[in-house]
Amino acid sequence: MITETIFSKCLSPELDSRFHHLWCLVGNTPMLELRYTYKGKPGQIYVKCENYNLTGSVKDRMALYILYKAYMNCQIRPQDMIVEATSGNTGIAFSAIGKALGHQVKIIMPDWLSKERIDIIKSMGADIQLISKEEGGFLGSIKLSEELAAKGGVFLPRQFENQFNAEAHEMTTGQEIVSQLEKMGMVADAFVAGVGTGGTVMGVGRQLKKSNRFVKIHPLEPAESPTLTTGYKVGAHRIQGISDEFIPAIVKLDELDEIVCASDGDSIIMAQKLAQELGLAVGISSGANVIGAIKLREQMGDDAVVVTLLADDNKKYLSTDLVKEEPVKEGYMSTDLTFTGFQPISRLEKPIVRMGVR
Ligand code: PMP
Repeated sequence: MITETIFSKCLSPELDSRFHHLWCLVGNTPMLELRYTYKGKPGQIYVKCENYNLTGSVKDRMALYILYKAYMNCQIRPQDMIVEATSGNTGIAFSAIGKALGHQVKIIMPDWLSKERIDIIKSMGADIQLISKEEGGFLGSIKLSEELAAKGGVFLPRQFENQFNAEAHEMTTGQEIVSQLEKMGMVADAFVAGVGTGGTVMGVGRQLKKSNRFVKIHPLEPAESPTLTTGYKVGAHRIQGISDEFIPAIVKLDELDEIVCASDGDSIIMAQKLAQELGLAVGISSGANVIGAIKLREQMGDDAVVVTLLADDNKKYLSTDLVKEEPVKEGYMSTDLTFTGFQPISRLEKPIVRMGVR
């Protein structure tokens, strides 16, 4: 394992070794060449299987990285409670990793997200507070977390503005993509990812640009609620985990290429197809990411290497429309698409874990 340990007076050797052990369960995920036929023509895209992380989502990477950086920079003490406002996967990630490091955890989230998310957080002994639309929804959750932190004894990861969120993906997800493609003699031409905090798209983008300065980095958002395009919350959508109510501070649209849209119904059907045709049981945002990647691959041509990720597994969506029959609408990509198989690009023999201060 490649590790860079730089000692800090705030990180005991015992905690340091817990971090290293946790990195064995986070990151270094498999990549697949996903094969499909679209409008009768074969094609392929490349997907990182982030459902293989400790809690089944891409958010484990940033939770572990942010907490490590917080210890390195003496911004957290072992007795501090971790408090975060989140739409779900982040809460699950901080609950698991926070508990593994011995912290109390409190998660504040809007009350309209799936029941599974709430139950999973509770199952790890984290305290959970649900905020209704009338109480301010997502923005209300963030405001409450700031109020709690002002009282002291609290560490706030502030995932929407914490640069270590994007850096986690630059140093791990992005580096893994570069290395896994390199093993196959390939370089990414484009990357697309649905934007929640934007940590994934910003961080992976920065890393991919180091090996191909022409690579296109596309943020993706729901067609029904295009917050990035309009600058504020409009409409409603069912792709949990992306497009919250504002443009996060870590998203720098001027560093990114065009915004790609995916409709929520199309994303649901695409995720259902991934499960039913390939056995890849993933969440709705993974369906959206696959739509985005195939759209780009179709625009860029047969030789284009387009990469995205399967952000989480489907277990948090068993009470949602993901497991219901979704009506087909005109213009859906999923209607003209069949998955034909996948070829794994194996994990790296030496996982990339770089946690040192840059
Ligand atoms: N998909 C899902 C299911 C998520 O939970 C998240 C994170 N909220 C994302 C995509 C987007 O990731 P990021 O926050 O890095 O933009």
